[in-house]
Amino acid sequence: MQSREHKLVDPEKRTILCPRCEEEQPMRDFATLGMCPLYSSMLSPIYRCKRCNHLFAPRSAGVLATA
Ligand SMILES: [Zn+2]
Repeated sequence: MQSREHKLVDPEKRTILCPRCEEEQPMRDFATLGMCPLYSSMLSPIYRCKRCNHLFAPRSAGVLATA
């Protein structure tokens, strides 16, 4: 039974795995593209990987706690 789940966003470690270069990096290293704060709870954040410039929006959004 191999249930190795690949998580993009790890709220406990506060890291995000880039789906292209597969480098785990701290959340704050990812630049979130501008979102209107009023509607942010209804929008999926888009992240840009600083290493490879890949843009991606993790599906299971809403996991991220708002500060
Ligand atoms: Zn990357």
